[in-house]
Amino acid sequence: MTRIFDEDLTFRFATRTIHAGQRPDPTTGAIMPPIVQTSTYVQLALGENQGYEYARGKNPTREALERNVAALEGGRHGFAFSSGMGCTDSLMKLFKSGDHIVVGENVYGGTYRLMDKILTNFGMTFSFVDTRDPQRISDAITPSTVALLVETPTNPLMRLTDLAAASAIAKQHKLLLIVDNTFASPVLQRPLEYGADIVYHSTTKYLNGHSDMIGGICVLNDDDLAARIQFIANAAGAVPGPMDSWLALRGTKTLALRVRQHDANGRRIADWLATRMGDERVFYPGLTSHPQHALAKKQMSGFGGMISVETGSKANAATVLGKVKVFSLAESLGGVESLISHPASMTHASVEPERRKALGVTEGLIRLSCGIEDVDDLLEDLERAFGGI
Ligand SMILES: *Cc1c(COP(=O)(O)O)cnc(C)c1O
Repeated sequence: MTRIFDEDLTFRFATRTIHAGQRPDPTTGAIMPPIVQTSTYVQLALGENQGYEYARGKNPTREALERNVAALEGGRHGFAFSSGMGCTDSLMKLFKSGDHIVVGENVYGGTYRLMDKILTNFGMTFSFVDTRDPQRISDAITPSTVALLVETPTNPLMRLTDLAAASAIAKQHKLLLIVDNTFASPVLQRPLEYGADIVYHSTTKYLNGHSDMIGGICVLNDDDLAARIQFIANAAGAVPGPMDSWLALRGTKTLALRVRQHDANGRRIADWLATRMGDERVFYPGLTSHPQHALAKKQMSGFGGMISVETGSKANAATVLGKVKVFSLAESLGGVESLISHPASMTHASVEPERRKALGVTEGLIRLSCGIEDVDDLLEDLERAFGGI
């Protein structure tokens, strides 16, 4: 089981990003953890090994990543997966037929699809509720409810869930509180500190930050729960390869620096968009006009680089998407480069049109992932693109 090096917790955040979970290679002194590209490990004698038997179970490069991100989230155990969805799916294997889970209605489209199209076939049930209102969470709980899964801020509408309130409800009803922290990253928000039982990420996004791998990771404190997840990770096998683990680990070294710049650029761009389009059309928790701005200030230490804006129509959205030059039209987020997307036809294409409409993911909505380029180039790019509508 991958447990953090306790002494890593004596360091402050930016120091942890660079050093936590990693020690110079004892045989060569290599400062970067080696990419241990192997499927199996030679045993010393029958029943005697060096802690490693077969790489689905354990790989040193993967363990370095797991310890590193666990230290960033302030948890004791980390488990890396082959994708964010692989992580979510493996976590769902903690449950069984008949179990009910309360889920934020505005979670990642793929999370909704996994639950609605696959896990329901195995007898699990889900209630998708607006978790901005803690009362709605309480109202959705039944005697079969075993967990509460939320994402905050959400994709793409940047809605927040009060983590302290959600945790109080989860504790009262003995539910596991599971939080997808992909959008905020541990730089801006650490759900375990608010009482979450499990925090998870698509490492594909901010943690890797360079758009060159796909991965997922979860972090938690409880030893028994960690043993169960370890068992699932090995038994179900959605584990990442050493090369992708290493790329994510290289990414986290600059996480604190990068997210600071994503946040600075995000604030400038959100302000510009609010002036250009009107406050009510811009979804960004850092704007004082955001209905949950006070909560954002309470549970996040910054607001990040994700912004959505309502352009009014699909034609307007298409015009903006067609005119940008520095922003690239693509799914995904959290990389150093700025991306722009149309949620209704891209990330949320797997959500039925009716449901999309009810959520507020309109045909005119566009989502920006502000990168860390010079913000003036990003602003000029948007001025040109929005000049067309
Ligand atoms: C991308 C994403 C996922 C899924 O992660 P993959 O690495 O693409 O499988 C889950 N949650 C959120 C919030 C995401 O943005």
